[in-house]
Amino acid sequence: MSEKVWGSEPFWGLGHEWDPDWVLTDRQKELRATLIELCEKEMRANAKRSDDELLYPRRNLELLGEHGFLGLCVPEEYGGLGENHVAFAMTAETIARYGCASTAMCYVMHMGAVAAIMLRPTPELIDKYIRPLNSGKIGTLSYSDPETGSHFWYPVSSRAERLNGGYRINKKASWTTSGGFADFYVVQTTSPDFKGYDDLSVFVVDKEDVQAQPALWDALGLRGNQSGPIQVENVEIPGDQIVGPVGDGASSNDEAVDPWFLIGSSSCWNGIALGAVDIAKRHTTRKKHVDVGMRVADYPTIQDYVGEAVMDTNACRLFVYSVAQACDRATDDNRRTLQPGETARADYLHWLWQIKFEAAKNTAHVVDKMLHACGGSGYKRDMELERYLRDAKAGWVMGPTNEVLRQFVGKAVLLGFESLDYWNQSYNRRVVENEVKKLDAAAKRELAQQLLAEAEAQQSKEPAQA
Ligand SMILES: Cc1cc2nc3c(=O)[nH]c(=O)nc-3n(C[C@H](O)[C@H](O)[C@H](O)COP(=O)(O)OP(=O)(O)OC[C@H]3O[C@@H](n4cnc5c(N)ncnc54)[C@H](O)[C@@H]3O)c2cc1C
Repeated sequence: MSEKVWGSEPFWGLGHEWDPDWVLTDRQKELRATLIELCEKEMRANAKRSDDELLYPRRNLELLGEHGFLGLCVPEEYGGLGENHVAFAMTAETIARYGCASTAMCYVMHMGAVAAIMLRPTPELIDKYIRPLNSGKIGTLSYSDPETGSHFWYPVSSRAERLNGGYRINKKASWTTSGGFADFYVVQTTSPDFKGYDDLSVFVVDKEDVQAQPALWDALGLRGNQSGPIQVENVEIPGDQIVGPVGDGASSNDEAVDPWFLIGSSSCWNGIALGAVDIAKRHTTRKKHVDVGMRVADYPTIQDYVGEAVMDTNACRLFVYSVAQACDRATDDNRRTLQPGETARADYLHWLWQIKFEAAKNTAHVVDKMLHACGGSGYKRDMELERYLRDAKAGWVMGPTNEVLRQFVGKAVLLGFESLDYWNQSYNRRVVENEVKKLDAAAKRELAQQLLAEAEAQQSKEPAQA
C-alpha cells in the first residue's frame, strides 16, 4: 500500500490502512492522490479564507475543473472522465476531508445538476451545459421552496407556463448553494397545465436570468458555499431547456437528484468526520504533559474517543460506498441511459435515505468528540477543528432533514411505502376520528356545518358530471 503524503512529508493524519481501498479501482486511487495534492497545495488554504470572509470558493472549483472533476461522471464522449457513483463518493469525501467542505458541497450540488441533465440528455443540453464543464462552468440544484421548507420536493410557489414554443418560468428558492455564482441552475417547478401535487417539471435556467443577493448569506458553517435564496421572475427560456418531458419532476427526483445528492452529501459528512479525526491525531500525538511525561494520545480515554470515531465513521463510509456500488450495478457503471418510466437508482431510495441519516448523525458526534480529545487547543481557530465542527452541523438540518428521514424509514417499515405522503394527499381517518371523539354535540354540529359548506363550495368548482 502506497504511503499517504502531504506535500513532501508523510500525511500527519490517518494513513491509507484506515481507508476502505478495496472499493476503489486503481484509476480512482490515482484520482484521489491528485485531489489530496490539490488540497495540500491550495484548496485547504482557500478553505480558511472562504470561511473567514464568506468567500465563494471559485478558485477551488476552477482547480477541480482543470483536472476534469467537474465532469467526473459525464461520459468520455462528451468530455467527461466517464466515472461512476463510487468515484463521486470518493471525490466528495476527499475534498471535504483534506480540503474544503464548502467546496465539497458546491461540488455535490454541481454534480446533482449535471446528473439531472444527464438523466435525459439531448444534443442541445449537452452542447450548452455538459461539454463546457471543465472550462470551470458550475451548475447547481435550486429546489427548496420558501413555503414548504425542507420538503424541497414540493415547489408550491413556483410555476411554468408554455410560451412561444418555450416556457415562462417563475421560481422562488429559499436556499441554493452557489446562489449568485453558478453558471446554470437546474430548477423544479409545478408543470405547465399543472394537474395536481406530483406534476412537476425540471428546467435549466442560465445565470443571467437568476436574481440572487449573495451579500445576505451568513451562516454557522459551510460559509463559503453561499446558499442564499434565489428568484427567477417571469423568465422566458427556449423549449430545449426543459429536462425530460413535462411532468418528469418526480422521476427526476427519485432517479437523479436524490440519489446523487444523498451519495455526495453523505460523503461530505464522512469527509468532515475523517478530517476532524486527522486533526485530532496530529494534535494529540504532538502535545505533551511534562508533569506525567505523557502525550495526550497516550491517555486511554483519548484512544477510546479516536477508536470509536474511526469505527463509526468507517461504518458510515462503507455504507455509502456499498449503496454507491448498488447504483453502479443498476446503471452498468453509470453508462446506462434510462428512458422515462424506467428505474435503477430509484430502487435504492430507501437505502439512500439511510446513508444520509447515519453520516449526518455521525459527523456531528465525531467532531464534538474530537474537540473534547483536543481540549481547549481545539477550541481555538488556528487548529481548524472548530471549522470542521461548524461545517458538520449542516448535515442534520439539510433536506431531507434527519427528522424527516428517520420518520420516512420508520413509517415505511411499519406501515409500508404507500403510507409516505410526500404531497400531503392521504387522509388519516384514525387521527380525525380520534380528534372528533373529543368534541361535545354542539362542537360536532358546528364542525359538520363547516364541512358541509366546504363540500358545497368544492362541488360547485368541480366539472359537471355527464
Ligand atoms: C448549507 C445549506 C445548503 C443548502 N443548499 C441547498 C441547495 O443547494 N438547494 C436547495 O434546494 N436547498 C438547499 N438547502 C436547503 C435544505 O435542503 C433545506 O430545505 C433547509 O435546510 C430547510 O430549512 P428550513 O428552515 O426551511 O427547515 P424546516 O423545514 O422549517 O424544518 C424545521 C424543523 O422541522 C422539522 N421537520 C420538517 N418537516 C418535518 C416532518 N414532516 N416531520 C417531522 N419534522 C419535520 C425539520 O427536521 C426541522 O427540525 C441548503 C441548506 C443548508 C443548511
